Parts: sequence; C-alpha cells; structure tokens
Amino acid sequence: MCLTIPAKIISLNKNKAAVLNGGIVKEVNVFLTPGLKIGDWILYVSDFALRKISGKDAKEIIELLEDSRKKINISNLSVKFKNIIAASSVRQLGRAEIVYLLNTKGQEKEALFSEANIARKSYLSDFICIHGIIEFSNFCGQDCLYCGLRNQNRKIKRYRMPVREIVQKAKEAVEKKGYKILVLQSGEDYFYTDEMLAEIIGAIKKSCRVFIFMSVGERSRDCYKKMKQAGASGVLFRFETANQKLFKKLHPRGKNFKNRFESLKFMKELGYFIATGSLIGLPGQTTKDLADDILTAQKWANMVSMGPFIPAKNTPLEKRSQTSNSKKTELNLKMIATLRLLRKDIRIPVVTALETLAGASGRKRALQSGANALMLNLTPNKYRQLYKIYDNKFYQKENIWENYGLFKRQGSYAMLEERMKKELTRN
Ligand code: SAH
Repeated sequence: MCLTIPAKIISLNKNKAAVLNGGIVKEVNVFLTPGLKIGDWILYVSDFALRKISGKDAKEIIELLEDSRKKINISNLSVKFKNIIAASSVRQLGRAEIVYLLNTKGQEKEALFSEANIARKSYLSDFICIHGIIEFSNFCGQDCLYCGLRNQNRKIKRYRMPVREIVQKAKEAVEKKGYKILVLQSGEDYFYTDEMLAEIIGAIKKSCRVFIFMSVGERSRDCYKKMKQAGASGVLFRFETANQKLFKKLHPRGKNFKNRFESLKFMKELGYFIATGSLIGLPGQTTKDLADDILTAQKWANMVSMGPFIPAKNTPLEKRSQTSNSKKTELNLKMIATLRLLRKDIRIPVVTALETLAGASGRKRALQSGANALMLNLTPNKYRQLYKIYDNKFYQKENIWENYGLFKRQGSYAMLEERMKKELTRN
C-alpha cells in the first residue's frame, strides 16, 4: 500500500523497540515481526513494525525519500511571501496569492517546496500511497487536440485488452504484488458497453480486495451508476482546464466544458472518490488559469491528478508548446506545493507525465514538494508502448517501490479502507 521511511532499531525491550528515523527516536511495537535484533532495519506503519529489510534496501529507500536539501531560512524572504505562507495555515488562499506562489523563483520557490514538504510530513507522515494503472484500450471517440489517442490520429496502432485479460492482470497486480488501488483507464471507447465495464469490475471485486478507479471518459450517468453498483470506488476524470474558453479551443468537437462538470457532479452524487485536475503548460494558458485550476481542483477532488502537457506526435498541438520542459516541471512542482498548502490532507500523486519531463529526479522532487502518492504503470508490455497519450513515457525503480511499498499483510486493506473513508468525507 504505502512506502515508509525505514528506521534502524537502536534498543529492544520485549515487544517494543526504539528506532531511529531521520534523526528522531520513536517507539514501535514489534510483536508482528519476531526475531528482530538491535541494528536491524525495519519498515513501520502507525507504530507497528511491519517487516525487516536489508541495510542495502533501506539505504536505497532512504535515497528515494529523504530530503537532503538545505533548509531555507524563511525569515530572509519577502514579507508578502511570508504572509501568504502564514495565511495558508489559517484560511483559504485567494487567486492573487496563488498566482504569487506560482510565480515564485529562486529562494522563495525552494521555500515554497520545503513548506509543502513540511506540511505533507506533518499531516500525512511518510506514507507514500501507491496506485497501479492498467491502460486497457487506446481507442477513443474524442478528438482532444492535445492527446495522441484522439480519434483523428490514424497513425497509431490501436489495441483493446479482452475482458478476461483485464481481469487477470488486475488480479495478478493485487495477488502477486499487493496493489490495493487500481485505475483502469482507456480512451472513450464504447466497444466496452456499460455492462462489460460492470462485468470487469464485478469479476475483479469478486476475486480480490482492491479499490477500483475508473478512467473511461464521459460515459452516461447510468454507466457510472452501473459501475458503482458493480463495486467501483473512484473515478479519474480531469476537468483538463478551468478556463472555459481554452477548454473550447482544445475540444472543438465532443467534450464540452459544462458537461465535464455535470459529469463530475453526478459522479460525486453517486459517491465516487474523485480524482481530477488539469493539464499544465497548455498553449495559451496563463498563470491565472493555473490558479483557477488549483481552486477548482481543491473544490472537487479527493485526489488531484494534474500533470504537464507534453506535445504528442500526430496531433494539432504537436509543435505547439510555448513553455520549455524545465519551466513546465517547475510550474508543476509549484502547483503541487501550493495545493498541499491549501489542502493538507488531499491525495496528490506524481503522474507519469511529470516523470517523463523531469527525468530521474522528478519523482523525488515531487514527493518533496508536497506529493504523497505514486501512479505506477501496470499495462502489459505488449500494449504499453501503444498507449501514446504522448510519447516516450518514463518508468523508474518500480521494483523497489513495489517490493517495499505494497504490504500484502492481512488487515492492510482494512487500514486503507479507513483512510479512504476519511478522505472521502473530508470534502
Ligand atoms: N479518456 C479518459 C482518460 C484518458 S486520458 C477521459 O477522458 O477522462 C487521461 C488524461 O491524459 C487526460 O485526462 C489528459 O489530461 C491527459 N493527456 C492527454 N494528452 C496529454 C498530453 N499530450 N500530455 C499530457 N497529458 C495528456
């Protein structure tokens, strides 16, 4: 379920151990993991040691998670910045304040990241939740100008996973690897009828304990109702941009701004856990637009899914990116950090698009700027390269995250259920 920072046992007394974690001594219960010795490394959650791990792996996880940046002395920064940071813990920030944070540079930008990191750590500790995504079809009836899967793109090879294969891959992810939240994503593909989608969800839920999030686009209320009844818990459905005019430009046919929000509304009414958000760095998008995206996301989302726009081959926006990759990366990190300050409790995954732009350091930087979840790709290899929303998708260190971040122990699903219930009712 979650990766936590490893701790080293420094003393032992029957069922209790004192452990050292990032320079702080903590007491944990060790009766679930007999045979531990002083000097051993463990992973623990909520004061319970869950498993022993090797010193080598502990070092690797610490490198993935630990913050090695220099602490910024916030007192040297501008009064305006300090006021906004202080205000963020007592009230909602306004649009102009969010714009200020999104425009920060140098020391103020670094301070924004570290404030968000502190907020994430103090509210959510070092729980990094791991979600798996299976991209089961790249057929799409929509024509979003930015997306490589758009209907008009005749140059990509299309695929559909058969129902049995989707169910089997989901079961494998849960049973063999320990995933507890899976996103099933596709283009808007009506080959899968409402009944088929419900059948897929039902078959997975019947055989294993897992939360299923559906990301299948603008289907009818009835479809979402059937999927909910079949056992789906959440949706991943971005509003893409909160700027209505820009939305219209990007979706000259098909998707409609009002419908997008109508859909979110009925999804919420149906009791879905809502993952939504926007694209960052779209042609014509301003910082004010991004501030509105943040305000809109925090209003609707239990989990915020936002990521950089990456020009995709064979789309009208193939050559239309005014913003450089590094600028988009920084902007994305500032969006994450600002959202974390606005909503201490919200779930923010690092999305693959950010990892693709930012390279090997992207995941770590995002986790240290307020993100608290990962979305790992579980699409079978033979299809993975064909799911070309954009090109050259990035993968890294999935093994270490899967080996140590996913607990197969009895009871961990119930723990997650508790968390999800809380997250769902907070909004
Ligand atoms: N069909 C589903 C989801 C599939 S695409 C739906 O409509 O909800 C998932 C997300 O990929 C989209 O919501 C969009 O925000 C993102 N996306 C599409 N093209 C992209 C691009 N070129 N760069 C980055 N993200 C993109």
